[in-house]
Amino acid sequence: MTSKERVLNALNMNPVDRTPVANPTSVATVELMDLVDAPFPAACRDPELVARLAATEYTELGFDCVTPYFSIIQESSALGCDIQWEDKDNWPTVRMNNPIWKSSSDVKVPSDFLEHRDIKAITESIRILRQELGNDVAIIGKTMGPWTLAYHVFGVESFLLGTVDDPNETMKCLEKLTEISILMGQAQIDAGADALTFPDHATGDLVSGEYYKRFLQDIHSQMVDEIPSPLILHICGKTIDRMPYIAQTGMAAFHFDSKNDPQEAMEAVNGGIGLVGNINNPETLYARGPDEVRSEVYKCLEAGVQMIAPECAIPLVTKIENLMEIPAAVKDWTAERSP
Ligand SMILES: [Zn+2]
Repeated sequence: MTSKERVLNALNMNPVDRTPVANPTSVATVELMDLVDAPFPAACRDPELVARLAATEYTELGFDCVTPYFSIIQESSALGCDIQWEDKDNWPTVRMNNPIWKSSSDVKVPSDFLEHRDIKAITESIRILRQELGNDVAIIGKTMGPWTLAYHVFGVESFLLGTVDDPNETMKCLEKLTEISILMGQAQIDAGADALTFPDHATGDLVSGEYYKRFLQDIHSQMVDEIPSPLILHICGKTIDRMPYIAQTGMAAFHFDSKNDPQEAMEAVNGGIGLVGNINNPETLYARGPDEVRSEVYKCLEAGVQMIAPECAIPLVTKIENLMEIPAAVKDWTAERSP
């Protein structure tokens, strides 16, 4: 089975020869940037460098996919948000002091959105990766969900206050922003992506499970209807309370955080959706060693998690040794159990 077949089978809940290893968010690190001479922020903006850094997930780490959209700000940059591009050792972020929009009537997609350099950085990199790596590896694109886009274009505080003051207006904002999610997602599929990560940061620490059901569940189901490839929803934090709702959206998989126990998460989704995760970033991958990584991988495999991955985009100074332990542990676990 090729890496691509393994990932797509897992996403479609079909049998696999072993559990795939694939981070739907990002495994970019400073060490990998140095190795292939593709540092941030250029490696978020120049398609050749994006592709070169993304390829290392497959060629150096031995994961089953490549994931060229490293950050969460490419669409927001193309919409006109003020971006702090940072340096090699820091993620680019949206400067939050000056939101570009105030209400749903402001939401307008520039006609040349897909031609913006920070969108083309992703779509062109997907074309390059497909050409250079062939058809054996899964290419996972990424399109930001409306909740995340709302934080960037309206500001976190003002958007969250609006959900209390005027929920109908919030729904209008989310529906209009979803058009951007669809546009960005479809452009990556057209470029050759096999699946898409769909981060929508209705995170456990800021909003409740009921909020998820009220504002996002239907919109996420609509995304599934609109996008002709498997979608992997990503939400950080403690999300057990919304997993039963997420399982009803029709998404292929949910990328979950280490704040949720793998066994409990499997029970919460009850076969309605596949799970991807959930090796801890700040402690295990960043600060501990291969032994601890291995024991978390085994815990996920024993729970039946369908795809093994770090819980989120990894810290940029994560040691390669710890990342390489993930596929090694999956292979050993599988070999120990084969007849
Ligand atoms: Zn995350």
